Amino acid sequence: MSDAESPDFDPVAPNTGEDFEPTEVFPESDDFDLRPGADACYKCSICDTNCPVAEVDDDFPGPKFQGPEQWRLKQTDDGYDIDDSVMDCSNCMRCDNACPSGVPLSQMHNTARGEYVSEQMDKFSVEYVRNRILANYRTSAWFASKAPKVANFAMNFGPARWVMEKTMGITSERDFPEFAQQTFREWWADRGGADASRRNARRARERLGDPADAEKKVAYFHGCYSNYNTPEVGKAMVRVYEHFGYEVVAPEQKCSGTPMFANGMLDDARRHAEVNVSSMADLVEEGYDAIASCTSCSMALRQEYPELFDIDGIEEVAANTFEAVEYLRIHEDLRGEVESADVSGDLAREFAYHAPCHARNQGLDRQAVELFRDLEGVGVEDVGESCSGISGTYGWKEEKYEKSMEIGDEMFDHMEDAEGTTGMTECPTCAMQMEHGSGYEIRHPLELLESALVA
Ligand code: SF4
Ligand code: SF4
Repeated sequence: MSDAESPDFDPVAPNTGEDFEPTEVFPESDDFDLRPGADACYKCSICDTNCPVAEVDDDFPGPKFQGPEQWRLKQTDDGYDIDDSVMDCSNCMRCDNACPSGVPLSQMHNTARGEYVSEQMDKFSVEYVRNRILANYRTSAWFASKAPKVANFAMNFGPARWVMEKTMGITSERDFPEFAQQTFREWWADRGGADASRRNARRARERLGDPADAEKKVAYFHGCYSNYNTPEVGKAMVRVYEHFGYEVVAPEQKCSGTPMFANGMLDDARRHAEVNVSSMADLVEEGYDAIASCTSCSMALRQEYPELFDIDGIEEVAANTFEAVEYLRIHEDLRGEVESADVSGDLAREFAYHAPCHARNQGLDRQAVELFRDLEGVGVEDVGESCSGISGTYGWKEEKYEKSMEIGDEMFDHMEDAEGTTGMTECPTCAMQMEHGSGYEIRHPLELLESALVA
C-alpha cells in the first residue's frame, strides 16, 4: 500500500496535483488587475496577526494593507503610488495560508512590489543595486564556482565584509555559505548524466521485479543552492530516486526566481521562468514529473509562476511539479521502507526539524517528522510553527538583520530545547538562519533518506 492510501499516515494529505489549483485572480487580464481578489477581503485582519514581519516591525502596515487595501486605493486613484513599505514584506507567504477568504495576498504583494520597483524605485540607488545583486544570487554563485577556494576566502574576509556592509548594505553579521569544490552539475556530468541514471534505474527496477516500468522518470529542478553550495542534497535526491527505480534527468535550468519575487525584480524572474518552463514543459509532455529538493523552488514552479506569468506550458509544469519527498510519499510505499530501515552511520542522530514557511504553504510542514517517526537510530523533533526569519534575501539586508533575528528567536529557543544538536530543514536559507542562530550543523531530509535507504 502506498503512503497516499495508508490510513495511518496522515501528516497532511499529500498534494497529488489534482487538487492544487493556483489562484487566478483575473485570468483574462494581462495587466494584473487584482480588484476581484481585493473584493474577497472582509477585513478580519487574521493575515496581519500571522505576519512575522508585522510582529517585530511596528512600521510595517501588514499584509491586509499591502494587498487588498492598496489595490482598492489603486482602483479609485489613478495617480496612486505603491507604498514603499511593500519592500519590507519578506515574501514568506504565511498570510496566504492564514486568510480564510482565499485572498491571493502574495500574488498581490508580488505584483505591487514589481510595479514599485519598475516604476518608482531609483535604479541608481544603493538599495536597488544591492537588491539586484542579492536577487541574482545565481550569477554570483556561478562566478564563485569557477574558483571556490578563492571565493570562500574572499566572501568571508573581514575587511571585505565590512566594506560590503558599509557600501552596499549586506550585513556582515552572517557567514557566507561555502561554495562546493564540485557543483552538482559537474558531478552529474562526471557520473554519466541521464544515461547513467537510466542504467541505475533499470537495475533497481529489476531488483524490484518491475523492469519494464517506463513511467518512472523525473526531471530534477535542483535550483541554485543544491548546485553551487550543497551538491550532497542533489546527489542524495538522485540516489534515493534511483533506489526506487526512477530515471532522473537534470534539464537546463536557471534560478527559480524566488529571490527575484521577494525583491520586486519581476523582469529578471520572468527571464529565468521562461527558460525553466520551456525545458520542464518539454519533459512533462514526454511523461516526466518535475521534482524540486528546495521547497521555495517547488513553490515558485507550482504557484508563483502561473500567478505571475503567462508562458506557454506553465500550467502543465505547475500541475506536474512536486517536492522531492512529497512525490515519493504519493507514488511509493515510502513510510513502509523507512519503517523497516535503520540508520547507524554518521546521521544516526537526533534532529531539530524546522518546517520552512513555503513547505507550510504546500501542506508539507509535518512531512519529515511523520516520515522519520519510526526510523530506527534517529529522532526528528519539530521545533514549532514560527518563521525562521531569514526569508531568503531579507535577513541578508543590513537594515533587516536585527528584525530577522528577532523573528527567528522563537525557533532558536525551540532548537535549544530540543534533544538534538543537528538541525534539519528543506530550505537552504532557513538552514543558514538555523545554523547562524544555534551553531548547529543543518541537514536535508533527503540526506537522511539516502542514509536510511541507499546502501
Ligand atoms: S508574505 Fe509574509 S512578510 Fe509579507 S505580508 Fe505576508 S506574512 Fe507578512
Ligand atoms: S485574512 Fe484575508 S479576509 Fe482577512 S483581512 Fe486578511 S486578506 Fe482580508
